Amino acid sequence: MSALDELYKEIASCQRCPLYETALKAVPGEGPQDARILFLGEAPGWHENQQGRPFVGAAGKFLDELLSIAGLRRQDVYITNVVKHWPPGNRDPQPSEVAACDIWFQRQLEIITPMVIVTLGRYSLNKFFPGESISRIHGAARRRDNTIYVNMYHPAAGLHQQSLRRVIEEDFRKLPAFLAEAEKAAKPEDKPQQLSMF
Ligand code: URA
Repeated sequence: MSALDELYKEIASCQRCPLYETALKAVPGEGPQDARILFLGEAPGWHENQQGRPFVGAAGKFLDELLSIAGLRRQDVYITNVVKHWPPGNRDPQPSEVAACDIWFQRQLEIITPMVIVTLGRYSLNKFFPGESISRIHGAARRRDNTIYVNMYHPAAGLHQQSLRRVIEEDFRKLPAFLAEAEKAAKPEDKPQQLSMF
């Protein structure tokens, strides 16, 4: 069994917060163990809870479009959420639930070691940059340790607001350059390009 499969088994029986009581299935995340880029959403919605897979509802369809704008295939990237069980009624996850679930995301990071982490929405942004505002830093990259962080609006926001949809699409168009930058940085003989930092 792979390290990720073992982790998924543990997440499936997690009782660290009450969300497991009302959820149908855990939604641990999916993607290859050697993915170079990881997308971090907020929490499973109704459809994700039914299927046990992240981003399979309307926001997921838009995320698929955004990935293709960025020249990425869904099967090559890792997708997960801050919270691994559905908050009933699609409510926002509570701080205690986010904190209880963090252990699983940390384990995912240890296994996958992505070069680029893309946060989707404010919950995942707050994990890395507490207090930052998404409207200020969306679409820009920041290097910390050996990882490049890119912060995006949540795809669901683009479904509700047409003007934001275009902004999100433009932000995703920048991803290939950030990924190329991360790859160059991983090969020290190459000189890194200039990132548009926030
Ligand atoms: N929204 C999220 O943040 N994650 C999902 O998996 C689906 C919708």
